[in-house]
Amino acid sequence: MSLEFNSEEYENEQTLFADVILPLPLPLMYTYRVPREFAAKVKPGVRVVVQFGQKRVLTAVIASIHSNAPKIYEAKYLLDLLDESPTVNSYQFKLFEWMASYYMCTQGEVLNAAVPSGLKLSSESKIQLNPEYNGNYEFSASEQLILEELKKRNLSYSDVMTLLGKKTIHPVIKSLLAKGVVILFEELKEKYAPKVISKIRLRDEILESKKLFEEVFQKLEKKEKQLTLLLRYMQLTQVQQNKDNNRLGLAKNVLLNAEVSASALSTLLKNNIFEEFDQVISRFAEYDLKNEKEIKLSEAQTRAKEEILELFKTKEVTLLHGITGSGKTEVYIELIKHALEGGSQVLLLLPEIALTTQIVSRLQKVFGNKMGIYHSRFSDNERVEVWRGIISGKFSFIIGVRSSVFLPFDNLGLVIVDEEHESSYKQYDPAPRYQARDTAIMLARFHHAKVVLGSATPSVESYYQATTGRWGLVKMDKRFGEASLPEIVLVDTLREKKFKTMQNDFSSVLLSELKLCLEENHQAILFQNRRGYAPYLNCEDCAYIPKCTSCSVSLTYHMHSGELRCHYCGHVERLPQQCQACGSTRIKPIGFGTEKLEDDLKLFLPEARVQRMDLDTTRNKNSYQNIIQEFESGKTNVLVGTQMVTKGLDFDKVTLVGIFDADRMIHFPDFRAAERSFQILSQVSGRAGRRGQKGKVLIQTTNTLQNILHQVIRHDYEAFYQLELQERERFNYPPFYRLIKITIKDPEKKPAHDFAQAFVNLLLPELGSKRVLGPETPVIDKIRNNYLVDIFIKLEKDKIKLPAVKELLQKHASQLLQSDKSYRSTQVVFDVDPA
Ligand SMILES: [Zn+2]
Ligand SMILES: [Zn+2]
Repeated sequence: MSLEFNSEEYENEQTLFADVILPLPLPLMYTYRVPREFAAKVKPGVRVVVQFGQKRVLTAVIASIHSNAPKIYEAKYLLDLLDESPTVNSYQFKLFEWMASYYMCTQGEVLNAAVPSGLKLSSESKIQLNPEYNGNYEFSASEQLILEELKKRNLSYSDVMTLLGKKTIHPVIKSLLAKGVVILFEELKEKYAPKVISKIRLRDEILESKKLFEEVFQKLEKKEKQLTLLLRYMQLTQVQQNKDNNRLGLAKNVLLNAEVSASALSTLLKNNIFEEFDQVISRFAEYDLKNEKEIKLSEAQTRAKEEILELFKTKEVTLLHGITGSGKTEVYIELIKHALEGGSQVLLLLPEIALTTQIVSRLQKVFGNKMGIYHSRFSDNERVEVWRGIISGKFSFIIGVRSSVFLPFDNLGLVIVDEEHESSYKQYDPAPRYQARDTAIMLARFHHAKVVLGSATPSVESYYQATTGRWGLVKMDKRFGEASLPEIVLVDTLREKKFKTMQNDFSSVLLSELKLCLEENHQAILFQNRRGYAPYLNCEDCAYIPKCTSCSVSLTYHMHSGELRCHYCGHVERLPQQCQACGSTRIKPIGFGTEKLEDDLKLFLPEARVQRMDLDTTRNKNSYQNIIQEFESGKTNVLVGTQMVTKGLDFDKVTLVGIFDADRMIHFPDFRAAERSFQILSQVSGRAGRRGQKGKVLIQTTNTLQNILHQVIRHDYEAFYQLELQERERFNYPPFYRLIKITIKDPEKKPAHDFAQAFVNLLLPELGSKRVLGPETPVIDKIRNNYLVDIFIKLEKDKIKLPAVKELLQKHASQLLQSDKSYRSTQVVFDVDPA
């Protein structure tokens, strides 16, 4: 090796800078200096700790490395490097960038939504004394000062800044850390903690030396219990046949049984014959696939699979339009197998709630340990394990909710979006306000992967793409295994009211069908898309209706808890004994929710064993699962619920479905009301009758002539679609036009309305009155103490340059915000493709 000074290399060594994405809503990236000791290790995608502003210490992700110092500020040093290899890969950067620009938010907001919080450090990094410190170091004056203060309390970085009266504190903290006298708070409370189990194994020396091995046996000759334990260990691990087995050892609970006592084990540990060690294990159960039967596809399923694979050759996206019960899952399974065998990764997106149900356990049986589940109900540790499991190659197939589009795939071959029409794929709040289905299509494009969208009731937009030839279209229009579609009947509640045959909200037809259903030992599902007991209370004397103090909505009456609740902000108050306005005690609940149906049913049909499934009964981790299991096992026989009962559930014994209040859904003031109604009514109906049992569906309505109800009755998606498409075209809605909803929020009413009007006035000359609609006061114009005003931008799909319009909107918004002091609390929220 040459000891000569290499001047060339030295001169080339220049100061490096890193642009980082901070987890904050900042439009620009921020630049930091790379300390020399990190120079060899920094690369895009690696997480770093940085100071931002005076006080905050944050976890950021490096987006790029360069040698250009920022022009207008002095770059601070990166404080620390958290990864050896990237946590975020180049595909993800591409996706984040696209999302930020398409959905009009910042990359920081996308990053914040993308990365599980277990991979972030808390923004208030704290230091504390190390309880295990036993060094003998000298300390500087600054260090002394910090140590004295730490005896009293833990300190954040900003505390230390104040204490020392200077901003650059990292060298001091670093030195204290190096001496081992303090520890960073996160190290103690590291958000992600691997799960370990304690295991036992023979000490290696004993296995390696025949002599030692025999000595051990001699020593234990008369110690029966210890000998039994040793023999049991050898028998269970087969270490004599293969010494490598000893490395994995045995878990204590496996080793110990009735004959083998814990005290014998502790003696053997004390005498250095056995040793104890920790093994890091996965939080996910291991699956044994040996006994799984091969799935046999029906003819229709095989045909669908073949058609899709053929379309993959020419189309990026294929829509699988299969009616409820047609067996789409089996087709997915074959496609997934096909992609995995080809060596690529697969992502299957499911709507939030469907992920806790039957489909997951079915797929787990097929794909076992290759499959990772990414669910919002999972703990953060579990989510970090999935994230890391994809990087390490442990999981090649992910089944997950909308946020799984953010995962670190690097070789995606297939993306499936099940129930692609589901509104839960759209994130409303906070930013990024993204549509996971559309984002998944973009993600697939970056990977050159194929996309399959599945639905029994496709969204109008998707069906339009598929029937105009941009996407492939495959249909499955027979139910699997000879099951027939349910018979759907309309029940005229106006007529029943006239003849006084209604019992509260139950028609006589529904009640007698229910009775019959239970007598035959079948099950029923009742659907009402409104939780609580009654949507509002009304004073019979002065007509006062209790309203939320922070939102412009009436409070929903929840009888079981004796409360009035706001479904928009969560505000709760006790049920009033008297009218707050006039003092009258004659307060009456108006309308009905799932709670009331449950209560009334117990009265009208005492033999029914009723369970309710809505947001209120499924808040705990396992409650949703429990309700399903009780229904599946027959412990309950009537399930009353909101939309939750429509999602991905298959129950063999359900022969009756009752639908309440269909009219409210149909007349909801939204351009998607018809589409939603058709989808929900079809999905709920699809729960009735499977495997040989013909089902019956009763829809209660005040108007039996409505078109949409008859499309549902005839299971005629095509007719619904054609009519709906005409409406969309006539009124300039998607798929012909693109919508951007702009919501102006302000704690005061006047600035919100003033701003909205001024904004519209700015936009009108540039976009024209056909493209700018509003300002419009929404039906609920105050939520969480903010007044709301909406503006809608409608843009032709093909003629308009979308990025330019978005830029224009953002430019005008930020200029207007700064133009007047009265807008200091005004917020402008952009929602691209609102749901
Ligand atoms: Zn009153
Ligand atoms: Zn409220």
